[in-house]
Amino acid sequence: MKPADNSRDITSPGSEKGGTLSFDALRRVLDLECSRDFHDAAVVGGLDRFLANWATQAARRGGPDMIKDLQRLHLLNSRYALMEPEQREAWVKQVLEFLDGLQGVKPKPTVCRPPKAAKPAAPPPPGISLESPVTVLRGISASLAEKFAKFGVVTLRDMLYFFPNRHLDYSQRKYVSELEVGRDETIIANIWQTSKVNIGGRPSTEAIVGDEKGNIRIVWFNNPYLAKTLKTNTRIVVSGRVNAFHGRLQFESPEWEVFLEGELVHTGRLVPIYPLTQGLRQRQVRKLMQELVLGFADRVPEFLPPTLRRRLKLMGVGEAIRQAHYPDDAAHKARARRRLAFDELFILQLGVQARKQEWQRGAPASAVPDNAALLERFAGSLPYELTGAQQRALADVLRDLGTPVPMSRLLQGDVGSGKTVVAAAAMLQTVAAGYQAAIMAPTEILAEQHFRGIGGLYAGASTEVETDDPYVRQFDGLLERPLRLGLLTGGVPAAAKRQLQQRIGAGEIDIVVGTHTLIQSQVTFSKLSLTVIDEQHRFGVEQRAALRDKGTSPHLLVMTATPIPRTLALTLYGDLDLSVIDEMPPGREEIKTKWFGPEDMPRVYKFIRRQVVAGHQAFVICPLVEESEAVAARAATAEYERLSSQVFSDLNMALLHGRMAAKAKDEVMRGFHAGKTDILVSTAVVEVGIDVPNATVMMVESADRFGLSQLHQFRGRVGRGEAQSYCMLITANVSEVARQRLDVIEKTQDGFKLAEADLEMRGPGEFFGTRQSGIPDLRMARLSDVGLLETARAEAEQLFAADPGLTTPEHSLLAAEVARVWQRRGETGESS
Ligand code: ADP
Ligand code: MG
Repeated sequence: MKPADNSRDITSPGSEKGGTLSFDALRRVLDLECSRDFHDAAVVGGLDRFLANWATQAARRGGPDMIKDLQRLHLLNSRYALMEPEQREAWVKQVLEFLDGLQGVKPKPTVCRPPKAAKPAAPPPPGISLESPVTVLRGISASLAEKFAKFGVVTLRDMLYFFPNRHLDYSQRKYVSELEVGRDETIIANIWQTSKVNIGGRPSTEAIVGDEKGNIRIVWFNNPYLAKTLKTNTRIVVSGRVNAFHGRLQFESPEWEVFLEGELVHTGRLVPIYPLTQGLRQRQVRKLMQELVLGFADRVPEFLPPTLRRRLKLMGVGEAIRQAHYPDDAAHKARARRRLAFDELFILQLGVQARKQEWQRGAPASAVPDNAALLERFAGSLPYELTGAQQRALADVLRDLGTPVPMSRLLQGDVGSGKTVVAAAAMLQTVAAGYQAAIMAPTEILAEQHFRGIGGLYAGASTEVETDDPYVRQFDGLLERPLRLGLLTGGVPAAAKRQLQQRIGAGEIDIVVGTHTLIQSQVTFSKLSLTVIDEQHRFGVEQRAALRDKGTSPHLLVMTATPIPRTLALTLYGDLDLSVIDEMPPGREEIKTKWFGPEDMPRVYKFIRRQVVAGHQAFVICPLVEESEAVAARAATAEYERLSSQVFSDLNMALLHGRMAAKAKDEVMRGFHAGKTDILVSTAVVEVGIDVPNATVMMVESADRFGLSQLHQFRGRVGRGEAQSYCMLITANVSEVARQRLDVIEKTQDGFKLAEADLEMRGPGEFFGTRQSGIPDLRMARLSDVGLLETARAEAEQLFAADPGLTTPEHSLLAAEVARVWQRRGETGESS
């Protein structure tokens, strides 16, 4: 590989490669430094390094006099980076004079422009506020605004809070020879060559780049187009995680951009990288942001009470926003993040506490008396013993039910841990006391499954009586009156639905299993006292609230299979008390999990076929596509067509994706349930609670693109029957990191461990998927902020205890902020 001819590139250290020693180069660098106000911004990597390099050459070639001069001027070991601005100026002039003398130039006064004063923020035009649309900014057209809107950025305030993912840290720029595996590193390098390559069957781009001290390979997976964009001999900045592949270092899908010399001066040393997609360019956004931050960051009112801010030593909000975009240095960036993360957690806490209070201060709930005899009978009729964890959870629930303070409890338990039976017992207790109960599931399939499953549990302890309504089951001999279980979903024919609603209103149906249809306004319960929400992460807060409003302060039990570490659960669901089922029913067979590369596909397909021939069924999950549900649907359709025409043409296959009508989806699921379909090709929609005991294979394509918790949820779809089940994770991503993650899921069946691993890697915001969580976005807060999380919680509790409604004048700005953040959540938090 030939070295770059950099000898005339003054911004590159170590540029004197043999040949003559260039005094001009040094002079140009120093002139540039003058014109850049002595910010040490003329040379990448800093002036000191450049000078040391230059002076070493000079010392080698010059005589003893030269060495003396170099020493006098400290050119061999300069400490420019550590000097004050005035010292820098004086010293640079000294060196320039020395050069003048050496080169026999007639001394001319070295003139530097006086340092520019920081540009004062232009006062924003009148009538413009933080709530003004971004189009009021110069340079944002209506079409550009549309692109911002895709990120939820509509107003100036939104834009201020549109933070970069990270910063390119030019001052931390490394040479290729200094890179370390496993770290996020930044290099500035020349592109030697680029090519389109096939990596694991996916078209990708490979580039070889190099700097003065070495060359390195870069791969961009699934992105063949870059090969055209990246022109040979362009200088680019590359930033990302360094991995090892076959013992050699490489960057994998790093951030990159063309290196422009002037940039360092414009932006300072930490250059923000915004999370952008098509149509928005980094440089453009940076420029807009810079103006915006300058003009508007200080307009964000300080809503934290001054005493609290002082006590916690938090940066002011305006400065924090400024520093989050354009930090002075890493320390300022960290402080800004701390302040903004605190805001998120604190406001989240204030919101959930308000919710809890509102919930508990409302009308009292019905106290459901203990009915030990009934419970014993129910438990005794089950085909298994409740696990210790199930018993503890049930005891928590029953204790809550026994008081008139409305319960709000989160029941957390891994997939298959047996939450349903706990809910069934609690509902039984409730109806025995003469009240009604309801359980809401996110899909029709799941609701039907509960109608069958929960009905089955009650049937075991009673005599089931035939009814003439397919949507109502009746059990005699369990209560003093018949117990009636109803099914209310969107799929129930209108006439039957009307009749059901009427019977629910009359109190004739004791327990209703349903979907969203349950919260539609036509349904009125006569005495609803317990509401259960299954797979809570699929519902928004509003839906929870709406269902609650169906009764007069019913008790609320929400169940989730998303295992959340305790601290985080307390933060996100601070309005809920927590019970955890942390033990699996005995005798569960481990689901054999293994990852495969694309070259293994023939083997994988063969295996699936054998399972099908043996009478089992399989799921094929298509790669996660982030862009949109429509794109995901297209991808799944293509995969379905490929598999059903080329690989499994003789088997029964079906397709499931989010773009299908609810009815069609249900039909497909029913077909699979009934064993009419051998292989179901699906997008991620199949993730939630489906129970098909005969399915034994879960194959996930591009598994590395899913979170570990989500993979675990997929895996939970099999292993529900007697037969040994298998989870096959396919990945074309050969990186160490991707493989390590898949190793983790191969080795553990423990959802909590996987969730922790996920959270460490992805942070809570992404972990939950903001749309599903029903809570405000967490953009700055991270799970590793346990300390901050607890501080925020404690502070919120304290503040709330002192001023529950945030009604005192010193809290008025805070109250407005809480309302704003939570209301915004309400607008956008509609769950899918
Ligand atoms: P999830 O918590 O995922 O909703 P389910 O309630 O659907 O789990 O239970 C999963 C399976 O485990 C069901 O088939 C159920 O009958 C069974 N099960 C529940 N509790 C026990 C137990 N204590 N012992 C054995 N099997 C159980
Ligand atoms: Mg369940």
